Amino acid sequence: MKNEKAVVVFSGGQDSTTCLFWALKEFKEVEAVTFDYNQRHRTEIDCAKDIAAELGIKHHILDMGLLNQLAPNALTRNEIEVKDGEDGELPSTFVPGRNLLFLSFAGVLARQVNAKHIVTGVCETDFSGYPDCRDVFIKSLNVTLNLSMDENFVIHTPLMWLNKAETWKLADELDALEFVRTKTLTCYNGIIADGCGICPACKLRKKGLDEFLEGAES
Ligand SMILES: [Zn+2]
Repeated sequence: MKNEKAVVVFSGGQDSTTCLFWALKEFKEVEAVTFDYNQRHRTEIDCAKDIAAELGIKHHILDMGLLNQLAPNALTRNEIEVKDGEDGELPSTFVPGRNLLFLSFAGVLARQVNAKHIVTGVCETDFSGYPDCRDVFIKSLNVTLNLSMDENFVIHTPLMWLNKAETWKLADELDALEFVRTKTLTCYNGIIADGCGICPACKLRKKGLDEFLEGAES
């Protein structure tokens, strides 16, 4: 894959930044695409921009503001509180079909920039009710994208079977642990690096990091 080109779906968060480093190792040329859907915090877009600039990666930002019309929820409307899903309910951050839309647009972009590979940080291990994060969905969409454009795209999901601690381990193996730890944004309250420490995203991130650090010591 060394001589080929990849487009990485990139949000500026821990997972997609780790995927960006993975892609930089695997492919000759890498471009990133970020979807702007009026996220709760503009910091998210700025954070993605800064990371792409620092790594010298061509960065596409696509306007997906229509998601705001389709899914009035906690990620896009400030007045709704972010909550964990309870009793099997979807979390309030859920945008139905978001990955379907994002990956389809990433496919169109990949075709335009002559990239054969599409990389996404979706993960089934921490499956929180998002059906379009499942491996079976990604494989299905890969076939659909290829049929729709008569292409031979390969969708890569380096994090699909990793838990949060293993994702930190992967960042470490890619010599990107400090970078990911200090420059990425996962926090629902828009605070880079270790974040606010109390939102569900921060708790999940810290739990994984602690597990990885404990495992690395022993
Ligand atoms: Zn937070």
